[in-house]
Amino acid sequence: MGAPALAPAANAGADDLALRLDGVTVTFDTDHGLLTALQDISLSVRSGEFLTMLGPSGCGKSTLLRTVADLLPVSGGTVSVIGRPASEARRARQISFVFQDATLMPWLSVIDNIRLPLEVGRGNGAIIEAPVPAEELLAMVGLKGRERALPHELSGGMRQRVAIARALICHPKILLMDEPFGALDEIKRDQLNVELLRIWQETGTTILFVTHSIPEAVFLGQRVLMLAANPGRVREVVDIDLPYPRDLALRDQPEFIERAAHLRQVLETC
Ligand code: ADP
Ligand code: MG
Repeated sequence: MGAPALAPAANAGADDLALRLDGVTVTFDTDHGLLTALQDISLSVRSGEFLTMLGPSGCGKSTLLRTVADLLPVSGGTVSVIGRPASEARRARQISFVFQDATLMPWLSVIDNIRLPLEVGRGNGAIIEAPVPAEELLAMVGLKGRERALPHELSGGMRQRVAIARALICHPKILLMDEPFGALDEIKRDQLNVELLRIWQETGTTILFVTHSIPEAVFLGQRVLMLAANPGRVREVVDIDLPYPRDLALRDQPEFIERAAHLRQVLETC
């Protein structure tokens, strides 16, 4: 297998960083007092990297993504996206989000849902320059011919494809995905995993992908960030040094099973 088209250079310098967290702490003021959701998280993600995140429920995975997207303020530390504060990156539309629920507008067709960020931006005076043509995205996510369909006419997997296309329209530098395939059956999830890797290679976008599934974390990621809970903190960052392109048969290979077993062991200590 050849080297991945988008593999980050081994000597990637600071300029090649998509994301850098330095000592990030996030606390919530709750009825039971202060809750430390994330404690002293430091992490660098190279431009074009695919990083998956695993950890027990409540360890702060969603909080981490929301912090990167500047949807939550940090209580300590700094977040920088492409070398600038996360708030600037958000305003410049360099960050996109895909959630477990596709959150499509039910009255809009597939193509209009994909174009929605352009309309929203117009209202705010934030025009997206040179958006990716919606037709191109439609083909990329395998929905050509379904542009006029309404969300209720689509399967769950198809709705997630629309959500991915919508997230890509503004050429994001970072795509944040919070258990995007968690509600799909295993066959659909596998299919979308393969397609997501293809989309990643085609777009060169940096991806942070949260999952509950060990095989999914290993299959997709170049590295797996493992978080422990109470308070949310980095337990281990595991390199997945398996070449791309990866296909589903990889999951039956000993090198895959070995890495998955290691993650399972670490997860037990989280
Ligand atoms: P995960 O996504 O890993 O399951 P979360 O990031 O959703 O975990 O939550 C981490 C911790 O922070 C949990 O204890 C959760 O209850 C708490 N938490 C998350 N959001 C809020 C909030 N807005 N207010 C108070 N507590 C929160
Ligand atoms: Mg979560």
